[in-house]
Amino acid sequence: MTHRHLAAFLSVLLPAAPLVRAQAPTITEEAVRTTVSWLAADERAGRDTGSPELVATGEWIAERFAKAGLQKVADNSWYHEFPLPGHVLDSKAVKLTLVRQFGDEQKTFDLAADTDVRQWTVAEVLTGEGEACTVAQLEDPVMQRLLFAKSARRPIVCEVPADHPYWLQSKGVRPVLGKAREASRPILLLRQGALPPAPPQDHREVTWTATWSVGAPEKVDVPQRNVMALRPGTTKKDEYVVVSAHYDHVGVGSPVDGDRIYNGADDDATGTTAVILIAEALAKMPPTARSVLFVCFTGEERGLLGSKAFCERPPVPLDKVVANVNLEMLGRPEEGKAGQAWITGHDLSDFAAIAGPALQRRGVELVEFPMAGRLFAASDNWSFVQKGVVAHSISGGSLHKDYHQPGDQVDKLDLPHMTKVIGAVLEFTRELADRDAAPQWNDKGRERLQRGKR
Ligand SMILES: [Zn+2]
Repeated sequence: MTHRHLAAFLSVLLPAAPLVRAQAPTITEEAVRTTVSWLAADERAGRDTGSPELVATGEWIAERFAKAGLQKVADNSWYHEFPLPGHVLDSKAVKLTLVRQFGDEQKTFDLAADTDVRQWTVAEVLTGEGEACTVAQLEDPVMQRLLFAKSARRPIVCEVPADHPYWLQSKGVRPVLGKAREASRPILLLRQGALPPAPPQDHREVTWTATWSVGAPEKVDVPQRNVMALRPGTTKKDEYVVVSAHYDHVGVGSPVDGDRIYNGADDDATGTTAVILIAEALAKMPPTARSVLFVCFTGEERGLLGSKAFCERPPVPLDKVVANVNLEMLGRPEEGKAGQAWITGHDLSDFAAIAGPALQRRGVELVEFPMAGRLFAASDNWSFVQKGVVAHSISGGSLHKDYHQPGDQVDKLDLPHMTKVIGAVLEFTRELADRDAAPQWNDKGRERLQRGKR
């Protein structure tokens, strides 16, 4: 833009500027883009629960809350911590010698701990001598099956590129989630290039044996973190509206079209982006009557683990939480449905009746979605419902073909739509925090609640 154009541009803008300042801070498409792009980048490796990438993501969210001038909650912390069972592994505690038999030719390979070979999974058996084993590239369909099988009867050696998240995540002394697999051998990762290329013949003629050992896995509780921040209210500051989304996703898995990172852009980097941007916007506005508690949950994809732990040991009394606004998959409306949003379990309380006009004020239309009933128990709002709190998920899209696939990427999000929906949820959050009456279950909702508790 030239100076002349800029001047003309400013002359149009300037008279309106004082008015703009008096209004709510705008959530811009640019802010949405940069935030969701960071969360769903390949560097986050699909934000798997228990991964170092998810830990770093949680710290990044806490930093955003801190910079926005929000407050820490209980224990003067940005985190609500809870343990999951796991083990400590050490990449230096692995020994592996492989013998390759090919026709009459036999070759022995001594692999160096940490630089060539690392331990990926825990096993009950800690050592083996001259055992038949499987050696294959990560992309090999056989290996893909073995990696996700419940137990292995023989040691598995998986060749991975040195820049693959599995290889990077398995370095050093590290905690891994999950219990030991019964009577099984470990999966060992082998850095690609540590073995010379296989002979050019049919690989079925090659057999491998392994002499190996791994360190005894030490059982530990692995701390997991929900990230939270508070915007204190005024006249009803002991009552809370909880605005939430899950910041975890499913990590790295079977490749589709060569892409193995399940970015989880829509699910649920969009909801997490909304929580962050609404928190930042509210922090700049005059405080609401009730307090607003922002929570980004971990472990959702593993069975609502973060929100369950949160509701078991809540940092504020749950009977003072008037509503949970949970945000799920805001970025991919069906064809022709941009500017629309829907609510899970909308017919169970007056939550949707309150949301409708508030969303409408920011140009978003509340519609019904065919699966809204079934999806009511499918996200973190359900943990609150089971404690009696009026809790629903708001979504701005559908269960698209990239759901839980590597193709759930930022370039497929409808950012103008998402920006509008986030602005509308900000409006609704303020409405919930300021209005006199708290949302209530209706008869159908109370009935559902009873069923849910059983
Ligand atoms: Zn989700």
